[in-house]
Amino acid sequence: MSDKPAILEVENLTKHFRSGVRGHPVRALDGVTFSVAPGETFALVGESGCGKSTCARTIIRLYEPTDGRILLEGTDISHLGARQLRPLRRNIQMVFQDPYASLNARMTVRDIIAEPLRVHRPDLAPAEATDLIVDALTAVGLGREYLTRYPHEFSGGQRQRIGIARALVIRPKLVLCDEPISALDVSIQAQIVNLLRDLQDELGLTYMFIAHDLSMVWHVADSVAVMYLGQIVESGPTRMVYSDPLHPYTKGLLASAPRPDPSADLLSRPPAIEGEIPSPIHPPSGCRFRTRCPAVMPICSDVAPNPVDVGDGRTVSCHLFK
Ligand code: SF4
Repeated sequence: MSDKPAILEVENLTKHFRSGVRGHPVRALDGVTFSVAPGETFALVGESGCGKSTCARTIIRLYEPTDGRILLEGTDISHLGARQLRPLRRNIQMVFQDPYASLNARMTVRDIIAEPLRVHRPDLAPAEATDLIVDALTAVGLGREYLTRYPHEFSGGQRQRIGIARALVIRPKLVLCDEPISALDVSIQAQIVNLLRDLQDELGLTYMFIAHDLSMVWHVADSVAVMYLGQIVESGPTRMVYSDPLHPYTKGLLASAPRPDPSADLLSRPPAIEGEIPSPIHPPSGCRFRTRCPAVMPICSDVAPNPVDVGDGRTVSCHLFK
């Protein structure tokens, strides 16, 4: 990890939505804290519905935070108005999960990639804008000849390349990648992951990945935070968390992940997690994982565990660790 000041700091970030169920909110995100160093790749992982996409969308201010702070290069952007936010937003862009839904079918590639330039660089002359668009398109392995084509003329992998070019055209420092390969064929997932890594080296980018695919996170992320029901339960350097998971949820999640040779460690693997993730409208009291935890104790239903620093840059929120 870098010793430089964090590019992104998230402190106690909370996002509740109205549920319509007797005034009980949907507690999608509840007190999430982490930081991302410049040049690193940080991943938020967890099952579908754990709040990781809400976290990314709140950071980029598609959702207003209910509580907590978001600091981008030291500036608190949590409650800035649209005008104040606009110049700072140049530094933070997003690659969306579904390259079929995220590109406007009626727009040409040129117009799609030009969108962020229209918002953030209205001063550019048309020729300068075209140069930047072609540069971005070339960086993702496509070229000038694709400028006048429409999204339906491309494969899923090519569409995601266009989505990446759109995110990069204004040269952001931080790119939030929301499940960037999960909608793609397995055969081209590796190409997109390799492309993102090459672009990171070339352009000095910082990435925050949102993912449920643990093998992808293993390959790309320097550090990882594991989310469960709107909260981070464990975080630390990826290799340490993967090789020696501490939280019972992390252990179960890794046990559920596909391995190249499932028979090799069948006996040594902990059991996969059973049951469904509870409703974020009525999360369990105490530890939110207690209804599925194989190590649950009496204290777990009464007291919510706080994050404990267990050394080596790792934290875990579980009563098994004091
Ligand atoms: Fe399991 Fe209790 Fe730890 Fe929660 S606090 S993960 S229920 S042992």
